[in-house]
Amino acid sequence: MTIKEMEKETAFDSALSQLEKACEILQVGGDVLKVLREPQKITLASILVQLDNGSTEVFQGYRVQHNNARGPYKGGIRFHPRVDLDEVKALSFWMSIKTAVLDVPYGGAKGGVTVDPKKLSQKELERLSRGFVRQFYSVIGPDQDIPAPDVYTNSQVMAWMSDEYSTIAGKKEPAAFTGKPIEIGGSIDRDTSTSQGGVYVLEEVIKHRFKSRKKPLTVAIYGIGNVGGGAAEILHYANNDFKVVALADSKNAVYNPHGFDVPFLLAQKHEEGTIAGFKGAKEITHEELLTLGVDILIPAALENTITAENADGVQAKLILEMANGPVTPEAEKILLKNGTLIVPDILVNAGGVTVSYFEWSQNKSGFYWDSEEVQAKLAKKMKTAYKNVLEISKTYKTDLRTAAYILAVSKIVKAQGQLGV
Ligand code: GLU
Repeated sequence: MTIKEMEKETAFDSALSQLEKACEILQVGGDVLKVLREPQKITLASILVQLDNGSTEVFQGYRVQHNNARGPYKGGIRFHPRVDLDEVKALSFWMSIKTAVLDVPYGGAKGGVTVDPKKLSQKELERLSRGFVRQFYSVIGPDQDIPAPDVYTNSQVMAWMSDEYSTIAGKKEPAAFTGKPIEIGGSIDRDTSTSQGGVYVLEEVIKHRFKSRKKPLTVAIYGIGNVGGGAAEILHYANNDFKVVALADSKNAVYNPHGFDVPFLLAQKHEEGTIAGFKGAKEITHEELLTLGVDILIPAALENTITAENADGVQAKLILEMANGPVTPEAEKILLKNGTLIVPDILVNAGGVTVSYFEWSQNKSGFYWDSEEVQAKLAKKMKTAYKNVLEISKTYKTDLRTAAYILAVSKIVKAQGQLGV
């Protein structure tokens, strides 16, 4: 077994073991577990793409539909060289849990293509995106399964996919995809919704658990892509409540105890491709960033960032999981023992799918909202979900991740039962 396979197994297995734990606490039987462990439908297809040099390449495509008891399947499409069936299965499972925690009327699904999109031209990327829709047309749709962006897919990819879908359907179907550009039916603020949703949860957590702490609270952010970079910027502008003192991209980590001018740092990254050498920044290692004496640590990169090896060194009192699965199960045990509060991914990063739901609703009604309305509704959804999870964690005397699973599983099981399964 390769390291990659072991990592993947850990991610899916730990998700399933959380599911088992929740089922045990809820005292639901083995049949429920059987139903939730396996996706309802898996579709595989080869996608043929003509390259600019005239040759043809074949890419492997996936759409895994985990569960639709609570509504149509929903979840992003990932373009990445390491995408495979196991990964897409795990991600589809996470989507069923996320949509239930946030109480948006969807099930869970995920799609992917095994491809390195950085090696394709824009025209080739467009042909791949359109090819995906032609191959998966029969299993997706506005009331069946609604894809969205994920790693290395964006609003432009959604625009091509949406256009291809409408062309085959013979009519405009804007609600078949979310995360589209605003000009063709996308929602205002969908692009920042994952980061903003996480910050709304953070505000609530602070109200309940960190009331007496001196402001500004210091923050270290590991990963400054769309989600981590967005969060850094929002926290930077948040009334001096927070001070972003450390940031890392995949190559460098920087520290400044006085706090960073985040927009300038991100502008440098954009222009020069690096955060190294920024004014006032001390270069540190990635490991040092994870163990800094800050109030809040935000892992916003890939899975398995905080492991059994470094968990004991984490000094932050609060970990806000913007990435999917950044804390391994072994690390979680150590952190919980040390009294670290972990606010889980299935709650913290669910702002994206929540505004996807708003986009879909706007497409269906044909009536579009302004930023104020989107933000008010997103804040309400995120804060309510947090309060519900907190309540359950108190009732069952358990951590927030287990509480979120209990909430999600009980909703899915109830819906499944009402459908007669
Ligand atoms: N890809 C995002 C996620 O994993 C968004 C999914 C969506 O908007 O449907 O949460």
